[in-house]
Amino acid sequence: MWQWHVIRLDLKHRFTIANRSSDFRENIVVRYVNGSETYYGLAAPNPRYDESVETAISAIEILTQSAQLNQEPVTIWPLLNQAIRGQYAAKASIDMALYDAWGKRTNQPVWKLLRVPEPHGMPLCMTIGIDSAERVKQKVLDAHEFPILKVKLGGSNDREMIESIRSVTSKPLRVDANEGWRNREDAIREIEWLASRNTVFVEQPMPSDQLDDVIWLKQRSPLPLVADESLDHRASLPDLAQAYDGINIKLMKCGGITPALSLMGQARTLGLRIMLGCMVESSIGIAAAAQIAPLVDDLDLDGNLLIVNDPFRGCDVVDGHIYLNHRPGLGVLSKT
Ligand code: MG
Repeated sequence: MWQWHVIRLDLKHRFTIANRSSDFRENIVVRYVNGSETYYGLAAPNPRYDESVETAISAIEILTQSAQLNQEPVTIWPLLNQAIRGQYAAKASIDMALYDAWGKRTNQPVWKLLRVPEPHGMPLCMTIGIDSAERVKQKVLDAHEFPILKVKLGGSNDREMIESIRSVTSKPLRVDANEGWRNREDAIREIEWLASRNTVFVEQPMPSDQLDDVIWLKQRSPLPLVADESLDHRASLPDLAQAYDGINIKLMKCGGITPALSLMGQARTLGLRIMLGCMVESSIGIAAAAQIAPLVDDLDLDGNLLIVNDPFRGCDVVDGHIYLNHRPGLGVLSKT
């Protein structure tokens, strides 16, 4: 029997990205209780994609009617996708639960069922939200074990933040402007400046509706550009490949592991760099994404590390590296 409930996840630090700030996030935990076994999924609805807790729950009510637990998720996903428009976080929650069920039925971890190569520790980046120079410095010191930092820019103190980070570390930075730069001349100036400060790539420099400007940027940029907000369900990958060097795939954006694998296949044929990202979300969602993590170039799976009251435990993170486990399904345990 399907059940779901809302959890409130409190953030360690007030989380600010270009145009948005928050102290907590709400996720929806989806469960299917089958005797002594429970299968888990998670939805982290995002207002950027016209989703709320309410719209996600309405979608979950409908989607659970199409979800056949005794079948492989890849055969069910097209039914989920046709059952309702949009609401990809809700679709992802059901897809995850189907993978968890498949793994627990066959007593295998999902990564093994998917023939993903035996994973070892994979380097993670820690996200540094927009903040004052002083607080940014403290967050960077707190993140000392992470080999890479992801810095949110597109606020009013971009250069000050980077200078503050560079005063304490020279480790590689990924920059995410979250659509925050509106003018392409300003954007290229920032990218050139960042290139001389050990930045690896820049994610979503400009708004998703300014694709022509990003094509212009790509022709000039010394750094690879990665699409995040531009990669929604309406996006055409060949079009995106004109403007970007890579894409940030998130289970919550595309609807789960099944469509993520399909996107990865298409991205590889286009020669795109593949990043696997997440929302601020509980370990259920991170563990689901981690099952396919060895297949991508760049991991950005720290959404559960930004919260203080995660009710679930999934992958271990040691010295800034994420480790998959051998528990069946998604390998997620409830802490309660
Ligand atoms: Mg992003």
